[in-house]
Amino acid sequence: MGQVYKSDRYSTPIGEIVVTPIAHGSIILEFQEKIIHVDPYSEIADYSLLPYADLILITHDHYDHLDKPALEKIIKPDTHIISTGKTAEVLPGIEILNNGDSTLWNGIGIKAVPAYNIKREKEPGKVFHPKGEGNGYLLDFGGFKIYIAGDTENIPELSEIKNPDIAFLPQMLPFTMDEEELIEAAKVVASQILYPYHYTTVDKETLANNLPEITIK
Ligand code: ZN
Ligand code: ZN
Repeated sequence: MGQVYKSDRYSTPIGEIVVTPIAHGSIILEFQEKIIHVDPYSEIADYSLLPYADLILITHDHYDHLDKPALEKIIKPDTHIISTGKTAEVLPGIEILNNGDSTLWNGIGIKAVPAYNIKREKEPGKVFHPKGEGNGYLLDFGGFKIYIAGDTENIPELSEIKNPDIAFLPQMLPFTMDEEELIEAAKVVASQILYPYHYTTVDKETLANNLPEITIK
């Protein structure tokens, strides 16, 4: 996958982690020879060429996050899957984490945090991402923290994500945030490093100019 995708390496107190943004909401993390896929989506990558998953984190049940064709290509007999109750209706037997729940997997702390819309509606009174149905994930590698926001707006709970080392924040209308909202959200989260993700287009120079304290990837 190194031929196609750019990976970044980070050292954490419990070992090196390799972060590979694929596209859209899809990410691969590699840690101690374990492969973690986040929201694998077959429309944006050929998952038959990507490594099998030891762990799959799915943020919510929308088709571009819970995608069976991608899952079929990366699931092996011992693959563990963590997601929401709504995902479990489609994928029985997975580990369910609701907002606020935590678990430990292979020494990695995994906390499900809220991801939802305040104002982005698909029809009047109905937001795309209702509160409580989707997860963001806060991963803790011995104190080195990676926040993967999922499909969310700049919700008040972002202030509880205190200064992770890395944050993935989405920018895509009409579903999540526009550029201005992403910048405001990034200021609240205040990560060392920001990966804007789940975007159609992104202007990293504008982000960098507005977020001088944060390294934009
Ligand atoms: Zn969604
Ligand atoms: Zn999405």
